[in-house]
Amino acid sequence: MSTAARSITVLGATGSIGLSTLDVIRRHPGRFSVYALTAGTRAEELALLCREFRPEVAVMADVPAAQRLADLLSDLPDISVRSGESGLCEVASAPEACTVMAAIVGAAGLAPTLAAVRAGKRVLLANKEALVMSGKLFMDAVLASGAELLPIDSEHNAIFQCLPADKVRDPDGAGITRILLTASGGPFREHSAEALRSVTPVQACAHPNWSMGQKISVDSATLMNKGLELIEACWLFNITPDRIEVHVHPESIIHSMVEYADGSVLAQLGSPDMRTPIANGLAWPERIDAGVEQLDLFKIGRFHFERPDLLRFPCLRLAAEAFEIGGTAPAVLNAANEVAVAEFLKGNLAFTDIPVVIERTLAVTPVVPADSFDVIFAKNSEARQRAWEQIGLLAV
Ligand code: NAD
Ligand code: MG
Repeated sequence: MSTAARSITVLGATGSIGLSTLDVIRRHPGRFSVYALTAGTRAEELALLCREFRPEVAVMADVPAAQRLADLLSDLPDISVRSGESGLCEVASAPEACTVMAAIVGAAGLAPTLAAVRAGKRVLLANKEALVMSGKLFMDAVLASGAELLPIDSEHNAIFQCLPADKVRDPDGAGITRILLTASGGPFREHSAEALRSVTPVQACAHPNWSMGQKISVDSATLMNKGLELIEACWLFNITPDRIEVHVHPESIIHSMVEYADGSVLAQLGSPDMRTPIANGLAWPERIDAGVEQLDLFKIGRFHFERPDLLRFPCLRLAAEAFEIGGTAPAVLNAANEVAVAEFLKGNLAFTDIPVVIERTLAVTPVVPADSFDVIFAKNSEARQRAWEQIGLLAV
């Protein structure tokens, strides 16, 4: 173990991944220190975390919330309170932090995650949307800066653990034939197409195995999460989608597998608890206690596998198609999904209309080459507008 504590910025500290990250950090006071904590709007929650972890900087994306946070922390003048995207990017790239947990949800995470990448940090990537939106540009930025990109998404962390450390982006050199990407199937795995029409946000957010933020819970229920993860795996491991096969595995114990030319299939297993991949990323290449329940295979008894049903869950197909189209199509897919999921969560859109909105938004938004991050940010805004229009048309 190194003597100096590894100092960390946690982007999205009040979220599900952010809190799990802080729980692992809490267990290892000498090993990690917190440089900065950030959140979107929940000043009261961030204030409590600041009292415990005493970061040098705290950032609220929302400006009025930053004022509230400053008031709440007025007795702790050593904590500098900042606001907005510029504040997020500052703490993501600051020389004081060597590791950045990228755990903001959605497209809002792209700019700060990219700032961390460009500054050459160890970047723990939970914010899959950032990579899905910008793909090659993002990976080029990683290679150019020498940033150490470690996957936190449980499947990708599992794949990473099953790969030779020096061939993470060289599937042929590593002798890989396939990646078997596992999926829980979500809470509606056994619902009929008819029953899916009337499912509620509360039902969608009640995931059978994982406790997660609302957006990813809905993504899990539509299988868009697996679609985003398919694209994420292609970029992270430099592999084509025809070599990735999604396996629905309802127990969520095998977090993914890598198949090699000699017929070996390596898997990473564990209790479904995000503190395992988070601890793996924080301490890599060392192993540390994550507070995770020991796996009891006798209790679990059996593993099951089935193919995903793309008819009931078209989002997985839409994501694969967007990746195939390339250019700005994945950014459009992601933006339309974010808008549709937010409307579903507000009770304004049926669950089965989520893929309808995405498919129509993809159809009406021209694809252009993803030449720069400016193009990606502009397409993200344009696609959101067009998704809103499509939702308006559905209501008529
Ligand atoms: P969450 O909704 O629980 O938390 C999101 C965090 O982002 C919060 O701290 C929130 O304050 C912050 N945030 C929201 N909007 C923001 C904005 N506009 N600007 C700045 N900050 C903002 O989400 P989560 O479940 O923790 O997921 C975070 C990311 O990790 C997502 O990209 C998700 O796909 C990914 N991920 C999550 C899990 C999981 O188990 N929760 C697993 C794999 C990957
Ligand atoms: Mg995952």
